[in-house]
Amino acid sequence: MKLRFGDLRIEGESRAGTETWFRVFPPGLALDAGRGALPLAGARDLFISHGHLDHALGVPYVLSQRTLHQAQDTRVLCPAEIAADLIDLIEAAARLERASYRYRVEGLAPGDRVAVGKNLQVEAFRTDHVVPTLGFTLLRRRHHLLPEHVGRSSQELVELRRRGETITEAVEDRALSYCGDTGPGVFELAPEIFEARVLLLECTFLSGELRRRGERYKHLHLDDLVEHAARFANQALVLHHLSRRHRMEDLRRAVDQRLPALAGRVWLLGDDRVFEPESGAGS
Ligand SMILES: [Zn+2]
Ligand SMILES: [Zn+2]
Repeated sequence: MKLRFGDLRIEGESRAGTETWFRVFPPGLALDAGRGALPLAGARDLFISHGHLDHALGVPYVLSQRTLHQAQDTRVLCPAEIAADLIDLIEAAARLERASYRYRVEGLAPGDRVAVGKNLQVEAFRTDHVVPTLGFTLLRRRHHLLPEHVGRSSQELVELRRRGETITEAVEDRALSYCGDTGPGVFELAPEIFEARVLLLECTFLSGELRRRGERYKHLHLDDLVEHAARFANQALVLHHLSRRHRMEDLRRAVDQRLPALAGRVWLLGDDRVFEPESGAGS
């Protein structure tokens, strides 16, 4: 499934308990590996949110594919608490295949940053799940002309620069945040996600009686989103990881009815379909 928001492109599939993976361009990094999907084989950097197999089982598959295609070394970035177990899983797969994969696993803690391209960094943050889990924010540095120089001709700007004057300033833009699996605790652990231009947020449960289940397994329920609706300043909110108990159509209807002020900015992503907002704005 493919989505586009300005110059940001997202490809991915997600259903709770089946698999969840995304690729984000630029720079083409992977957010989770699902059970192993071919489009991930192009990613040099795999950011793994946690060890549940619907998110992490695909790691050895992706490394296997990349080795087959003699791609450059892969970086696997994951919560520090699971790094050793992930290496064991990868090495067992390599032994099964009588192969040796070219990769490096790096354990991350909340607040750690990783450079992923020119002017691009990923920052890890803690989410609220039953096992150690990180979310990831893609940060983009842009250079803006200082306000006092706006409107000057390019000749004037060249001259200013020649004289050694600073004419631009760097600003950091939260291009995208991905929360992995999480309960509502993420809204207090990482309130900066409300400011990301695009927010990939799980929404596993829909009907009233399943709220307890969400609380127990640390997943989001639509009621949690309704409670925090006024805080979402995002240009686009992509809901994913819906339980197989629910139909995508029912989530779309519920979002339209219960999040009226947000619905025009909400996309739903499943395993074989995307539901755009009624207006279709921004895609
Ligand atoms: Zn999951
Ligand atoms: Zn999980």
